[in-house]
Amino acid sequence: MVLTKILGIIGGGQLGMMLTEAAKKMPQYISKVIVLDPTPNCSAVQVGAEQIVADFKNPEAIMELASKVDILTYEIESGDSGILKKAEEKTSINPSPETLRIIQDKFLQKSFLQENGIPVTEFVSIDSLDDLRKKITGFGYPALLKARRDAYDGRGNYKIRSEADMERAYNGFIGKTMMLEKFVDFKMEVSVIAARNTSGEIATYPVVENIHENNILRMTIAPARVSSDVARRADKIAKKTMEVLHGAGVFGIEMFVTRNDKILINEIAPRVHNSGHHTLQSSKTSQFEQHLRAILGLELGETTLLYPTIMYNILGPDNITGRYKIPDLHIENMHLKMYGKAESKPQRKLGHFNLVDQDRKKGIDGLLKEIEAIKTKIAVMPA
Ligand code: AMP
Repeated sequence: MVLTKILGIIGGGQLGMMLTEAAKKMPQYISKVIVLDPTPNCSAVQVGAEQIVADFKNPEAIMELASKVDILTYEIESGDSGILKKAEEKTSINPSPETLRIIQDKFLQKSFLQENGIPVTEFVSIDSLDDLRKKITGFGYPALLKARRDAYDGRGNYKIRSEADMERAYNGFIGKTMMLEKFVDFKMEVSVIAARNTSGEIATYPVVENIHENNILRMTIAPARVSSDVARRADKIAKKTMEVLHGAGVFGIEMFVTRNDKILINEIAPRVHNSGHHTLQSSKTSQFEQHLRAILGLELGETTLLYPTIMYNILGPDNITGRYKIPDLHIENMHLKMYGKAESKPQRKLGHFNLVDQDRKKGIDGLLKEIEAIKTKIAVMPA
C-alpha cells in the first residue's frame, strides 16, 4: 500500500495552481496541498490548496510549512536556499536546495554548466565600474549586464550598446552582484522541459519555440520550427544538463539557436515553466503531473507531443491597473486558463490559452493565423 503524502509548495501563483490541480488528480499519492504565498486567496487556493500567508522568504513560515508536509517543492526560484537547507531536516525537498543555490545565481549557474561541458555564451563576473570598463573590451558591443540574482522577465538585464551606456547600466545595478555576457545574435529562442525523478530517470518533452515581447514570454510554439538536427542536439543538451544537475523535478531549460545553428543555454528554471503550459493539452502527461511524478519517485509519464499546439499568454495591458474582465470566448480547440488573479497590472500574467491542432490539419502556420484573429478578440478590459 502506498501512503498518501501532503505536498507543500513555496509559491501559490499560476504554477502552484496548476500543480495543485495536477495533485488533485492523484489522490492515491497526494492527500493535501499547502502553499506558502503572501497574497491571501492566491491562485492555488482557488483550486483547493490550503495556504500559509507569508512572504516566500519568511524563515518561520518556511519552517512551519516544512513541518506540516511530507514533500516540499517550489514554483519560484527566489527561495532562500540556506533556510531550505535547514528545512531539509524536517521534510524532503525537491529540487534540492543545493541545486537551487546554484541555479538562482546566474553566474554560478553558467559556471556550473561550463565546467560540465555544456555550451553557454561567454560571461564574466563584474565587481566595479572599472572592472566593467576593462572586461567589456574583450566582448565588444552590444553586451549584456545582468543582475546575478532575483531577476525575472528581463528586468535584471541591461543591453550596453556603446561606451556611453556603461555608467548608466552599472548604476542601475548598484547593490547587486553582477555579471557581463557576450551578446548572442540568435535566430530563435527555444526551450526543453525536462524531468528527472528521484531514481535518476530522465524524460524530455520535444523542443519548443518561444516568442518574447518586451522580455516577457508571449507565445510558445510546439514543436519548434527547427531542423531535426537542431531538435536532436537541443534534446541532448537538455538531457546532459539533467544528468549533471542531479535535481529531481521538472526544469525549464531555455536556449538560443544562433544564426549558424549552434545551441547555447541561456538559463535554467528549477521548476515547471511557462513554455511548458502547452503540455496541458498537447501531451498525455502535463508538465505539472510530470513534476509531481518526478518528486514522488514515480515512473515518469509519456512526453510525446500528440498535437501541434500554440500557447498564448494573456498579459495585463499597460493602461489597466485593478479589476478586469475578458470576453467569454468559445472557439473550437482553444483551451483558456485564467489564473483567478483579482487585479490586473501592466504585463502581469493573467492567464493563457492553448490552441490545439487536434486533427493535425492546420499545422503551425494555420494555428498562427488563428492566433492573430483571436488576439484582437481576447482584449483584457477594466471591470
Ligand atoms: P534572461 O532574463 O537572462 O533569461 O534574459 C531575458 C531575455 O533577454 C532572453 O529571453 C533573451 O531574449 C535576452 N537575452 C538574455 N541573455 C542574452 C544574451 N547573452 N544575448 C542576447 N540576448 C540575451
